[in-house]
Amino acid sequence: MTEQEFRKVYPLIAGWIKKTLAQQASAARPVTSFGFSRLPHYYDAQLLASSMVVLVPKVPMPPLSAMGLDRFREFEQMDAGGTTYLNMYFVRADQAHSESLHFHELVHVIQWRLLGPEKFLAFYADGLERFGYRKSPFEVMAYSLQVRFDREAQPFSVEAACQSLMQDMTSPGDSPAFLKSP
Ligand SMILES: [Zn+2]
Repeated sequence: MTEQEFRKVYPLIAGWIKKTLAQQASAARPVTSFGFSRLPHYYDAQLLASSMVVLVPKVPMPPLSAMGLDRFREFEQMDAGGTTYLNMYFVRADQAHSESLHFHELVHVIQWRLLGPEKFLAFYADGLERFGYRKSPFEVMAYSLQVRFDREAQPFSVEAACQSLMQDMTSPGDSPAFLKSP
């Protein structure tokens, strides 16, 4: 993705996110209200109290192809179990009680917060374009931490793990070209 293209679509995507979150705000509840027992051993209380969940029949995706990003059509049409925008994430109702899925989306909440929306979207789009959804770096990171959560009994700080992984991942050598210059 070129800088010019990103500059053109970023306001559209940011506007869509703002509108979507505002529309869903009244249906959102903090993840703490689900009563999961393991998450508090992996995420600090403040993050859990401020991360909002909306249960939906189908998770909302920005209309990327209509914005001219036709190559993301497959991603846009994916019927995902969950998706995250800033501190709010959407979970397909049939997955509502999957603590593992909530764990995964909370990794994205941290990624959004650490990078801020503009950098997050630039990196995410770049990874999606170069590697596809499942192999894009931010998904690889979320899935690999989720595998640890699923298989290992020993808790760890996801925030600390994210910080060090993100530092490597967003180092200038791996950044989308247009983010390298300040
Ligand atoms: Zn994910």
